[in-house]
Amino acid sequence: MTPRGIAAPRQQTGALTITPEDGSPVVEIPTITCCHCGRVWQWIPGSGRNRGFCLKCNAFFCGPQCQACVPQEQQLENLEAGRPVDYRPVKVLIPGTPTAPPRKVIDPNAPE
Ligand SMILES: [Zn+2]
Ligand SMILES: [Zn+2]
Repeated sequence: MTPRGIAAPRQQTGALTITPEDGSPVVEIPTITCCHCGRVWQWIPGSGRNRGFCLKCNAFFCGPQCQACVPQEQQLENLEAGRPVDYRPVKVLIPGTPTAPPRKVIDPNAPE
């Protein structure tokens, strides 16, 4: 069980290191990267920021504007192609029958 306020280690995608000028100890803050746009933010419980979790990516996204599951790579492709940012190509999986070699019919009455 992860204590409240600390992102699960697998969800932490980065760290922000603060080195104070006055010589006080170095502070390391875990950061999360949005699975859709790649934005990085600091994990602050109760910050009032609306974050989300994408079940397809199994990762956090940064906010309601990022709710559509369009991974960063696709967003960049859309930008390059001049398509809407939230465009996502439809992928349909059609189960196919593997082509089997024709069966050899054995006729028991056929002369050898
Ligand atoms: Zn985002
Ligand atoms: Zn997603």
